[in-house]
Amino acid sequence: MTGRRRRLVILGNSAAALSAIRAIRSRGGDEQVTVVSREECHAYSPVLTTYYLRGVVPERRLFLCDAGSYRDLAVECRFGRTAVELDAARQRLLLDDGTRLDYDALLIATGAAPTRLGGLDDEVAGGLCYLRTIEDARRIRRLAQRARHVAVLGAGLVSLQTAAAIARPGVHVTCVVGSRQVLSQNLDAECAAIVRDHVVREGGIEFLFGRSVAMIDHEAEGYRVELAGGEELSADMVVVGKGVTPNMAFVDPGQIAVERGVLVDDRLRTAVPDVYAAGDVAQGRNRISGAVEVVANWIDACEQGRVAGLNMAGADVTFPGSVPENVTTLFGLPVASIGSVGAGDAGAGLTSVTGSCPERTTYRRLFLKRGVPVGAILVGDVGDAGVVRAAIVRAEAGAVPVDRIVRGPIEAGAVLRSCVSTSASTAVT
Ligand SMILES: Cc1cc2nc3c(=O)[nH]c(=O)nc-3n(C[C@H](O)[C@H](O)[C@H](O)COP(=O)(O)OP(=O)(O)OC[C@H]3O[C@@H](n4cnc5c(N)ncnc54)[C@H](O)[C@@H]3O)c2cc1C
Repeated sequence: MTGRRRRLVILGNSAAALSAIRAIRSRGGDEQVTVVSREECHAYSPVLTTYYLRGVVPERRLFLCDAGSYRDLAVECRFGRTAVELDAARQRLLLDDGTRLDYDALLIATGAAPTRLGGLDDEVAGGLCYLRTIEDARRIRRLAQRARHVAVLGAGLVSLQTAAAIARPGVHVTCVVGSRQVLSQNLDAECAAIVRDHVVREGGIEFLFGRSVAMIDHEAEGYRVELAGGEELSADMVVVGKGVTPNMAFVDPGQIAVERGVLVDDRLRTAVPDVYAAGDVAQGRNRISGAVEVVANWIDACEQGRVAGLNMAGADVTFPGSVPENVTTLFGLPVASIGSVGAGDAGAGLTSVTGSCPERTTYRRLFLKRGVPVGAILVGDVGDAGVVRAAIVRAEAGAVPVDRIVRGPIEAGAVLRSCVSTSASTAVT
């Protein structure tokens, strides 16, 4: 290829995409880089949107870039354009306005979107709130100002953060939860009960566990949420937090292998040469469990984007695998879950050591597989989360002082318990 600059197309404009662009430019090449995003705006942090909802971060502070940032990176921006079809054989991307972008290498960094509730009529479906984009956050903030009764469907991280952001005196928030606990993907039942009690006490949030939604009707005054079993609740607004689905509708599974997300190898390459994927849309190796899965978090999206970008620019860099990790604060209570914490298949064959202080606002549980630390849950004091994460990533038997981590900030008199856990249950031995 002589005389023509290589054309790199970055699909997406968030964590993975920005890291990729910066990595490409760090190599000093003269590639022509085009960034495509279906949103009109500059890149922002979805992670901060609940802080914006709470009013502690102004909207302008959500943005990670301004027009100058893209200029400095020498990228051509196609914002407000959605990719509708990828022809990997011809190395061509089709956008919703009919534009065709030819590329030499493409990064799919389209992230994920909230999983929609099915089976509803259009009017009801259109009125429900989901939180992912800045536009979603603006809408929730606007509606929440007038709302007095809010139903939140789900009790995962985004749902709880949203509930916490909306709850205030005079506003009743009810979380309808299919499982028997909050944060079922991140916490064990004992720890989840501590978090639940704190959220109920500090935020006045009501939980209805073990309930599924049978129907939602729109009425003059708002919504009527009917639960399986006959219970009903009325709400001015309904926020749905039922997980996310990778944005890959434009990918032809006959060309590029997909499962839950777009499958990638340890260089972030898809099944097709010169097409890479990174971030919440990508399905790759979990560094801790070895499973091939979508691990959706900001840090991994950035790191995957960086590795993909370097490789697109001609380097040969490998990604060591994703580390599931979530750290949040709910009504002042810090909660962290890192690595394999017993959920799903990864829970089989784990042992754990748990420590909690009598008042139960501090809880620590370290998960081990054949003596090697593979996961941790920390509640109340997460100051050493980075150290714990490093120990988990290093994965050496005997390399971490288990007692010290678990006892950590728990005062003398902490009760330490050893457990053998399976994916389905945890038995104290
Ligand atoms: C409320 C909230 C709180 C969160 N809190 C945390 C947290 O505390 N810690 C943490 O690690 N993670 C958190 N996350 C998750 C984190 O935001 C994601 O892991 C991260 O944003 C993933 O980055 P990404 O680049 O893969 O994709 P995304 O951030 O999803 O960005 C996708 C980009 O692709 C564009 N796009 C999508 N489809 C198309 C298309 N067809 N054509 C063109 N453009 C398209 C979008 O416009 C966007 O620019 C939170 C998320 C939310 C919503």
